[in-house]
Amino acid sequence: MTSIWLDEVAPDNRRALEENMTADVAIVGAGIAGIATAYHLARAGAKPVVLEARTVADAASGRNAGFLLAGVAENFVAATRRYGEARALRIWRFTRHNQDLVREIVAREGIACDLAWNGSAQIAGDDEEWTEVRESADRLRKESVRVLLVPEERAAIYEDDGEFHPVRYVRALAGAAVAAGARIYDRTRAIAVTTSEVRTERARVRASVVVVCVNAYSQHLVPLRVRPVRGQMLATAPVGRRVFERPAYANRGYRYWRQRADGRLLAGGWRDTAADEEVGEEERTTPRIQDQLERFLRERCPETNVTHRWAGIMGFSHDALPYVGRLDSGVFVNAGFTGHGMAFATATGELIADLVRDKKRSETDLFAPERA
Ligand SMILES: Cc1cc2nc3c(=O)[nH]c(=O)nc-3n(C[C@H](O)[C@H](O)[C@H](O)COP(=O)(O)OP(=O)(O)OC[C@H]3O[C@@H](n4cnc5c(N)ncnc54)[C@H](O)[C@@H]3O)c2cc1C
Repeated sequence: MTSIWLDEVAPDNRRALEENMTADVAIVGAGIAGIATAYHLARAGAKPVVLEARTVADAASGRNAGFLLAGVAENFVAATRRYGEARALRIWRFTRHNQDLVREIVAREGIACDLAWNGSAQIAGDDEEWTEVRESADRLRKESVRVLLVPEERAAIYEDDGEFHPVRYVRALAGAAVAAGARIYDRTRAIAVTTSEVRTERARVRASVVVVCVNAYSQHLVPLRVRPVRGQMLATAPVGRRVFERPAYANRGYRYWRQRADGRLLAGGWRDTAADEEVGEEERTTPRIQDQLERFLRERCPETNVTHRWAGIMGFSHDALPYVGRLDSGVFVNAGFTGHGMAFATATGELIADLVRDKKRSETDLFAPERA
């Protein structure tokens, strides 16, 4: 089944590339990462070409929950444990910048994507996580982050987080990129890349720079440490009462839910209950996960009816941070979002557009693709 997002937006049909061509920059993949890269490059005066095997936002970018969170999937204490406090804070600020960029672009381009800033709830699944959620809130408050604790729900409310309609956002951004000088080809699968050429099934694109933005599918084109991992969701018919006040992510980010402004309930994740099964590139739902998602929603809203069930494939990196920059081979990459691409990719698109043009950026080391 298709996602609620793809189902309610008209198909995005662009022509396939049939002839050889040259471009300033060739971008492979038209999810949020490839489209944001094209948008920022085109605005900077380049003439990028985007080659997409399916259609714009048809893969993970059209199949997610549409949360625009700050930080990584884990709470800040867990992020500090993993990256050290200084890096964890830099990552936090980068995702904050991503939120600001989305706000700015949506306003500048007049994008209608139901963008709302109702905050998000980070909910602990056990006592240990609750201690970390509390300490994370205390620590981030010192950075002027607006966060409230709700002890009876073992939750921290991050007041500045957002949500949107991911397909409307990415497709409109694609339109804005084209208006600024980008070209986008659908149904055009890249079969090989070098630093100066992308070969497709029917044509060759010669370019000064090649940027690979195929996330979960990276291993087919470049030696990147990205593993394909499946995420599943469901959506219901509109419900006439408020069941969830704001997007929530619980159990260390494994489980998430929201209610849209039109009353529809969405739930996703529960991968922690079937981690071994939820791997690989097969974009299909399973009864095991779907039953748990449905049970969760029915406990909170018995009258609800499921209308959509879907799956999407995420690209997990070795340390849960994206790979953004130039590989030793000379090919550029912008991928490995580890289930958090809405939170990162508008800003990593800007970052890679700067790196391609040799502009110095302070975040280069954070996301260096061949880091330890
Ligand atoms: C169920 C689920 C829920 C999620 N919820 C959230 C959320 O709430 N917030 C959040 O921040 N993130 C979320 N994510 C993660 C987010 O969707 C991804 O991180 C993001 O979409 C990745 O964008 P991308 O452009 O890198 O990859 P994709 O959207 O997968 O795009 C890659 C594109 O490359 C194309 N491609 C692949 N191979 C080739 C080739 N050889 N030639 C040409 N094109 C090719 C594909 O067709 C695809 O369109 C979720 C993901 C899932 C699956």
